[in-house]
Amino acid sequence: MGWYLMRQRLAKREKFPLIVELEPLFQCNLECAGCGKIQHPEHILRRRMSVEAAVGAIEECGAPMVSIAGGEPLIHPEIDEIASALVRRKRFVYLCTNALLMERKLDKFKPSPYFAWAVHMDGLRERHDASVEREGTFDKAVSAIRAAKAAGFRVTTNTTFFTHDSPKTVREVLDFLNDDLEVDEMMISPAYAYEKAPDQEHFLGVTQTRKLFGEAFADGRRKRWRLNHSPLFLDFLEGKAEFECTAWGIPSYSLFGWQRPCYLMSDGYAATYKELIETTDWSAYGRGRDPRCENCMAHCGYEPTAVLHTTHSLRESLRALAG
Ligand code: SF4
Ligand code: SF4
Repeated sequence: MGWYLMRQRLAKREKFPLIVELEPLFQCNLECAGCGKIQHPEHILRRRMSVEAAVGAIEECGAPMVSIAGGEPLIHPEIDEIASALVRRKRFVYLCTNALLMERKLDKFKPSPYFAWAVHMDGLRERHDASVEREGTFDKAVSAIRAAKAAGFRVTTNTTFFTHDSPKTVREVLDFLNDDLEVDEMMISPAYAYEKAPDQEHFLGVTQTRKLFGEAFADGRRKRWRLNHSPLFLDFLEGKAEFECTAWGIPSYSLFGWQRPCYLMSDGYAATYKELIETTDWSAYGRGRDPRCENCMAHCGYEPTAVLHTTHSLRESLRALAG
């Protein structure tokens, strides 16, 4: 990533992708109440992105990392081919999954320094199963994580927090993932209030998010946990730093094309990343600019800002390296 960022600066490229959120389908085998992706009509849910389209989009934009999401990517019959084609091109691939199919499909994938699972884990057993609205999902995810680690895969997790979380529930799940399951790294996010999500009551506001993470991170836990975020982004979640949104840094490519402006909101689509960059009014988005952004503290808008601040500051670069 460091070399990639240096190359962009030498090329004087102002806007460039750090990670692409690739959505090769919208269909899922769960129906979480906080999901904003599965409300498409049936004929859209049945569509699958081709391997060529997925690889072509990543090659066109040049991003070094790809997060394959959805829907549930493991439903896609060619997902292993998409992942291996990207790995062959030395792109770092995170395959996001709710893990229901993971153990059964593990042997379609090969461990690689360029490949990691990113398992959806919203809490301990009761909390997670309530969040995804299906009993037994937590146990399946834990079993799949153990199987993937035993098979030599890099395994990360992705946890979304809502208003029914407390500093205690944040600590419990991150302690469990970090110390008991010993996953390689963990990602965390306050839930974004998708307009289409059936549950509109439990999305965190900015003040609640800062309080939740500020208290959860106290007494040295933040440093002890293997969080897959820059220190500045974690400062941002706690309210110790304030940033503008840099949505072009983590763009989203789906069955409809490049989504404007980000993975969370949809104001139309562009056919290429170049067109997305050149025809989007980026200054119109972010908190204080668009009411739909008001409570957003998601990594797809603010982690790129934190990463770019880090690379422009020797002190922050050293802090990031120290972990
Ligand atoms: S597992 Fe993910 S994609 Fe599937 S319904 Fe839940 S939030 Fe949506
Ligand atoms: S603040 Fe940025 S990342 Fe968040 S919804 Fe708005 S444009 Fe998207």
